[in-house]
Amino acid sequence: MAYIINDDCISCGACASACPVGCISEGDAKYVINADECVSCGSCADACPVGAPVEE
Ligand code: SF4
Ligand code: SF4
Repeated sequence: MAYIINDDCISCGACASACPVGCISEGDAKYVINADECVSCGSCADACPVGAPVEE
């Protein structure tokens, strides 16, 4: 199960820095996770100030 970033994202970028496999990038309205590369470690959820990354 990959993580996804919900609409609460404020595009702060903290999750991208925290991801060990570098699979988070800035999208149009929010940051997005490449589900094919996500290893579901949860680091993005821990780093996010608004709890936007959630398990799919
Ligand atoms: Fe990256 Fe881990 Fe978040 Fe997946 S769960 S996007 S691997 S930090
Ligand atoms: Fe969005 Fe949270 Fe990532 Fe910041 S840490 S870019 S608010 S998902």
